[in-house]
Amino acid sequence: MFSRPEYVEGMVGMETAVRSDKTLKRYYRIINRKFFNDELPNNVCVRYVNEDDTDEEERCEENYFGWTEEATKGHSFVIVISKAKNPGPTMTGRCATLAHEMIHVMTWNQNLKDDHGKTFSDWHETLTKRGLFRKGAVLRSLTLF
Ligand SMILES: [Zn+2]
Repeated sequence: MFSRPEYVEGMVGMETAVRSDKTLKRYYRIINRKFFNDELPNNVCVRYVNEDDTDEEERCEENYFGWTEEATKGHSFVIVISKAKNPGPTMTGRCATLAHEMIHVMTWNQNLKDDHGKTFSDWHETLTKRGLFRKGAVLRSLTLF
């Protein structure tokens, strides 16, 4: 493993610095702390699909309404969540997608990226054992699936 420099989000001087959505980033931190033992990098941008994203349909993973990509500037990864496909009022769908994408960050960051292969499903199992999908796991008011 190697470490990447830490960047401040929205740092001055980075023209294309992308900002995280505050709420999504909050959930990212909660899920990271509670279920990934804080092993995921903090300099990940977590945002909703915006008007600069073309081909939303194609980029969204099948059955999951978001995607993860390596960031070019200021962040290690970018997690993009579709608001349209994870409609409110609760955060359930968005957080389920977020948790899924966070496994991609985990495996990718450890150079074990295997899309939805064995490493991925092992992680899914680990998170299930750690209670991610239990009632009220992320927040008392929020249950995934
Ligand atoms: Zn996936």
